[in-house]
Amino acid sequence: MDEKQHRIAFAYFLSKWKFEQDSKEYLELHGEKITPEEYRPEMKNAIFCPECNTPLSRTPEEAELFSNERTAHYRHRGKYRDIYCTLRVARSSGLQYQSEEEVRRAVQNENLVLIGGWAAEPPDIQDNGDLEDLEFRQTQIEDPDGPITEVALGRHTGKKVLLPTKVSSVLSICRNFDKNIHRAFYFPDSQYPLHLRSVLYDVNRLEEDSLPARANLFFGKIIKYRQLSARNVIYLEVEGFPELKIYTWPKFDERKKIDSKSIGRVLLFYGVVSNKGEGVPRCMTEAWGQYSLLPPQYEKFLPFK
Ligand SMILES: [Zn+2]
Repeated sequence: MDEKQHRIAFAYFLSKWKFEQDSKEYLELHGEKITPEEYRPEMKNAIFCPECNTPLSRTPEEAELFSNERTAHYRHRGKYRDIYCTLRVARSSGLQYQSEEEVRRAVQNENLVLIGGWAAEPPDIQDNGDLEDLEFRQTQIEDPDGPITEVALGRHTGKKVLLPTKVSSVLSICRNFDKNIHRAFYFPDSQYPLHLRSVLYDVNRLEEDSLPARANLFFGKIIKYRQLSARNVIYLEVEGFPELKIYTWPKFDERKKIDSKSIGRVLLFYGVVSNKGEGVPRCMTEAWGQYSLLPPQYEKFLPFK
């Protein structure tokens, strides 16, 4: 994982809002979500951190606004260094928790999501037509309890705690993606909790002869869709090799409304990409919860290669 990746996917832009004076709720309700690429000089002093709400600066401040600014990012200001924020990059990489109590509090406040596995089958909802839409709109689909897992408190402490997890779905990550992008996640194969933005893995970073051995939360753009007799194949755009195939089960694609009309959309999937089988890099999905389309309005929050 690229440790240098910038954690802040978007800042809130709201003129006349004042830190320590006006409410967080008001900022979240009325603030405009602005990515570093969308920043304009007139927003100066009116953009705020999505977590700690202190004013942010964009780097570079004005220069190169007209070029394809891939390295533009938000920075916290030194003046507010005493205000705790997990999105502050100057701290060590990965999230550090001091105690079991602190981890439990983070889970309770929904700053940390512990995923113990992916739902094998979809939840039981009546399909009245636009099911994809319905599933995305549902604010609460009850997550069943997953296994108890050993979570590392941080990369350097070596301390671990046993905590209950939930069985979830990539769909539920996509549903509130603007909230989830700044949360920390702990997946079934994680070594330690990381912000979602640090976990998300652009398939264009994959190289055919050095594929990661572990499972990752990948994302990529759908360029082709094929129905085989038993399985469906979703082809994603990749730079490092000729093609990348994601094998899915037809009944799940149908329920998710994924078909040839999904070409151009972004797919998120959790799994291992391997070329051990027929020599072509691919991911065989089994569970319903392992993959989902990302609503198009959230694509700008992705950490593209
Ligand atoms: Zn912050």
